Amino acid sequence: MSDCVFCKIAKGEIPVDFVYRDDAVVVFRDASPQAPTHLLVLPVQHIVSAAEVNDPSVWTLIMGRAVEIARGLGLEKEGFRMVINTGVQGGQTVPHLHLHLLSGRNFGWPPG
Ligand code: AMP
Ligand code: ZN
Repeated sequence: MSDCVFCKIAKGEIPVDFVYRDDAVVVFRDASPQAPTHLLVLPVQHIVSAAEVNDPSVWTLIMGRAVEIARGLGLEKEGFRMVINTGVQGGQTVPHLHLHLLSGRNFGWPPG
């Protein structure tokens, strides 16, 4: 979609700090990190949100890639969080499906 910021990023039209990219999926550092490691994993294909996914292979594409990247960065030792905000009340601000991969601080209880 021409006016979608994440489509532009996926096409290389907006510079970001890429961690991984291929024809189907891109991974880059969030511009406003909420944890020491905060990556965004998204399909190159423009899908508005998780609620619009019809082909379940999209989950393998983004979650599989997220876990592979997490392992590659050695994050499995300390652990990590994967989040997909969906729709307005879900806190989604960019209407192109993306998974947040967060690590480097404690998301459990007690917080810290
Ligand atoms: P969400 O609120 O789940 O839609 O997440 C959107 C995320 O995209 C936020 O964490 C933003 O910080 C991030 N973001 C938006 N624009 C950019 C950009 N140009 N480069 C990197 N991250 C971005
Ligand atoms: Zn898009």
